[in-house]
Amino acid sequence: METTLVLLKPDTIQRGLIGQIVSRFENKGLKIVGMKMMLLSDEIVSEHYDFLADKPFFPGIKAYMTSAPVVAMAISGSNVIKTVRNLTGATNPAEALPGSIRGDFALTIDANIIHASDSAETAAVELKRFFKDGEITSYEKISDKIVG
Ligand code: ATP
Ligand code: MG
Repeated sequence: METTLVLLKPDTIQRGLIGQIVSRFENKGLKIVGMKMMLLSDEIVSEHYDFLADKPFFPGIKAYMTSAPVVAMAISGSNVIKTVRNLTGATNPAEALPGSIRGDFALTIDANIIHASDSAETAAVELKRFFKDGEITSYEKISDKIVG
């Protein structure tokens, strides 16, 4: 069973969309195993998006990601990394399909409301970045037996 990291970015919180987006994951049958609100420091944002450090839009990402809290979620399920990326939709909301989270709730790439890990290797590093030991739970959900 895989686990992935999702961040509901500051615009999700500002726009009151937390519940609707969490519902998408619950409706899909995925299992939320960790969840917390946190205000990100410049340091953690720089680490998380280090591959974008030399891009002209990087200062904008930093300002955006630290402007209000995020909700960090650890989500488990069969093929969860790919499944959550599909639910999330393309990076640029203008290209994200209707029905995806970015397709339905976001308009521009600089406020694309959600982050999701893109591979098993990335997910392992990112879960450790946002959750301390013991903050990710392990439990059996009755629906595990129904949806896999
Ligand atoms: P995320 O990592 O947030 O899930 P992603 O994997 O779809 O998004 P990445 O290429 O990892 O896309 O980009 C990380 C984030 O950097 C994007 O979500 C977006 O907020 C920002 N970003 C990427 N490209 C641009 C751009 N051209 N202009 C502004 N912001 C951008
Ligand atoms: Mg990414």
